[in-house]
Amino acid sequence: MELTKILIKLLFPGSCPVCGEVQEQFLTDDGVARICPACEKRLKRVAQPFCLRCGKPLEADRIRREYCADCTKRTHAFVQGRAVFVYQGAIIGSMHRLKYGNRRDYAAIFAREAYETYGSWIRRIEPDALIPIPLHKKRRRERGYNQAQLIAEALAGLTGIQVEKNLLLRTLYTQPQRQLSARERKNNLKNAFQMSKKIVQLEKVLLIDDIYTTGSTVDAAAETLMGAGVKKVYVLCICIGGGDAGGLDNGSKSLQNV
Ligand SMILES: [Zn+2]
Ligand SMILES: [Zn+2]
Repeated sequence: MELTKILIKLLFPGSCPVCGEVQEQFLTDDGVARICPACEKRLKRVAQPFCLRCGKPLEADRIRREYCADCTKRTHAFVQGRAVFVYQGAIIGSMHRLKYGNRRDYAAIFAREAYETYGSWIRRIEPDALIPIPLHKKRRRERGYNQAQLIAEALAGLTGIQVEKNLLLRTLYTQPQRQLSARERKNNLKNAFQMSKKIVQLEKVLLIDDIYTTGSTVDAAAETLMGAGVKKVYVLCICIGGGDAGGLDNGSKSLQNV
């Protein structure tokens, strides 16, 4: 091991993004911490079978289906989405700290998880750019950073695909999505995004966000991008709601990147 890597390990021992346990062996060679084995057992990763559209895990039932209940009912503007973890249990607190608790270092950890799980899928779709779901500038000022952008930037380092961070703008300061139905969420997001004046020619893009709930946020973003000439929009999120029936729609905490 290189001396610098040894020094990084000594100076910054790895801390598990889920339980916070500090141990030197949680650090990988690139100096990014990893999820500890105990937490790995508690987390639910998205595994086959999952919805061919949004990537939500499908309930194992006798009739083999291709799409989740939500994607059977409605169409999405994006071509396909993938997510790494089911948004339940111990991952919830971790996502919350990444989003609101200034744990910007988690972005690289989860970007690597996404890359290890869906690296070949990303290579197959060959996106021209990674586009993080933007925050409204007022919200970004309040929070100090956009977690989706940090994830996208870390993923750019791993894939070599550029990040277009100033292309899609959030022009509407949307209300938190909590306790809104799918239809209300959609209305809440109408005209939420706009394209900047920057001119780029992008055929295929990969939208990056932390949590996928009903897909209304990424759909609204995808529609805006397609209105500007993008042909295909794909989606990669760190977490996704587990309920096959549209799941986290009712009564759950605000999950979306408002
Ligand atoms: Zn842990
Ligand atoms: Zn689906």
